[in-house]
Amino acid sequence: MSHHHEFDYVVIGGGSGGIASANRAASHGARVALIAAGPLGGTCVNVGCVPKKLFWNAAQLAESAQLARSYALYGDAPEFRWPEFTQRRQEYIGRLNDRYAEGLASNGVTLFRGFGQLAGEHRVRVDGETVLAAPHILIATGGEPIRPDLPGAELGLDSDGFFALQEQPRHVAVVGAGYIAVELAGLLQSLGSRVSLVMRRNHFLHGFDAMLREGLMEAMAAAGVTLLPKRQVSRLARGARGLELHFTDGERLQGIDTVLWAVGRRPRSRDLNLEAVGVYPDDAGYLPVDRYQNTRVEGIYAVGDVTRAPALTPVAIAAGRRLADRLFGGQPERYLDSSLTPTVIFSHPPIATVGLTECEAQERYGVDNVRVYRSRFTPLLRALDRDHPQVTHMKLVTVGAEERIVGLHALGDGVEEMLQGFAVAIRMGARKRDFDDTIAIHPTSAEEFVTMR
Ligand code: FAD
Ligand code: NDP
Repeated sequence: MSHHHEFDYVVIGGGSGGIASANRAASHGARVALIAAGPLGGTCVNVGCVPKKLFWNAAQLAESAQLARSYALYGDAPEFRWPEFTQRRQEYIGRLNDRYAEGLASNGVTLFRGFGQLAGEHRVRVDGETVLAAPHILIATGGEPIRPDLPGAELGLDSDGFFALQEQPRHVAVVGAGYIAVELAGLLQSLGSRVSLVMRRNHFLHGFDAMLREGLMEAMAAAGVTLLPKRQVSRLARGARGLELHFTDGERLQGIDTVLWAVGRRPRSRDLNLEAVGVYPDDAGYLPVDRYQNTRVEGIYAVGDVTRAPALTPVAIAAGRRLADRLFGGQPERYLDSSLTPTVIFSHPPIATVGLTECEAQERYGVDNVRVYRSRFTPLLRALDRDHPQVTHMKLVTVGAEERIVGLHALGDGVEEMLQGFAVAIRMGARKRDFDDTIAIHPTSAEEFVTMR
């Protein structure tokens, strides 16, 4: 028997964007339903930001233990116990899942566990049965990892599979060149695995400022990661000594026990029965939306990784909340401007970046209108470590006579926590002289940003 329920707002997807939007709408007094097929919190909480950052923290602590020797702090080298860490991490994630459920309940959002599909105008079906009716429907179904279409691809893991690993891999090949590839390669190396990073171009992080790419490639190579640029994988096979990754040039990588595919993600827009309402994904499966998150069909919206917005949790959350403010909070002009979105890559060392790269600024404003400030230094933290020098790189990209800052880029210890405040300043239109007029905090690495000449 099918059940029928009436709401003001039905949200499909219990990840970053969906939960944020549902809670905000309920706080404005709307009657809200949230449909969640997977564990609450979605990609970020379960197989993304959160487990990744916990791994990164572990890797940072392991590195600190090494660095400690340069401060004459000796002791047993810590041993990373992967299964114990995995258990603690999953317990923590379980607590987060519960907290999300409690949050929804306390806001009065009705949670339906199951798979949501559109079922005609203003209607959504859960698991083919229960029908929810609402004038406003949000699609926040996120994305999922892809694998290359190659023989043997099933022998490798994607990022979801990485987080399910119960034992530490000994020799890993990471294939890819984006955020996930450099993050997973970096943390595995720091935790003691042997890592080869296979990329199809001669560099990774295509599209990021060249200083960041080049600096990180140098640092990762120095840390012992084997960088294999300009390699196209042709197939993956099982050999006598573990897995074998074959390249199109005839070479192969042998003796690896784990291959991680980090070759991108795709939006989860299939199986939503979008045709029933006339919403059509683009060629890559993303749902086209305007800046107000409207699809082409009135009353149907999309936020987060299922759209072409930057695939970052805070972007999905901000879009979801603003949409709820617009629909139910009496703020008809509210929308998300995702230009100047700050982002951090939790590599080793981390990258922090906001705004235009040097090349982008030159293309947009003309070479003569762009002035760039750079700094490269050994941070005090590492000053006593003569055996493993690791430098910090910083860059400010400014435009025009007033030297408005349009890009800020950094690679080095601590930059992940430095960026947020600078992003506020840049959003407010900071000029180089505002940075110059700010008193430095000494001795820190961040002070370089206000003392560059
Ligand atoms: P999701 O969080 O993916 O949520 C979508 C939810 O919808 C899922 O729970 C899914 O089960 C559910 N769903 C799908 N279809 C249906 C359906 N038909 N019915 C019901 N439910 C459905 N971002 C950062 O900002 N910082 C980071 O450090 C970071 N690290 C990351 C690391 C990794 C390994 C990955 C993969 C991603 C990372 N991201 C990070 C990106 C971030 O996780 C995503 O941008 C964010 O989760 C997108 O939120 P969303 O709400 O659009 O989708
Ligand atoms: P990205 O889009 O960042 O990178 C995908 C990479 O896959 C590209 O570098 C591309 O290489 C490479 N690639 C694609 N096809 C192939 C192939 N056939 N063979 C070899 N390489 C291939 O995707 P990710 O999956 O790494 O991350 C998805 C998104 O999730 C990110 O863009 C980011 O928005 C988000 N994320 C955010 C994080 C954070 O905030 N710290 C962390 C992790 C993810 P090429 O560039 O050479 O074409």
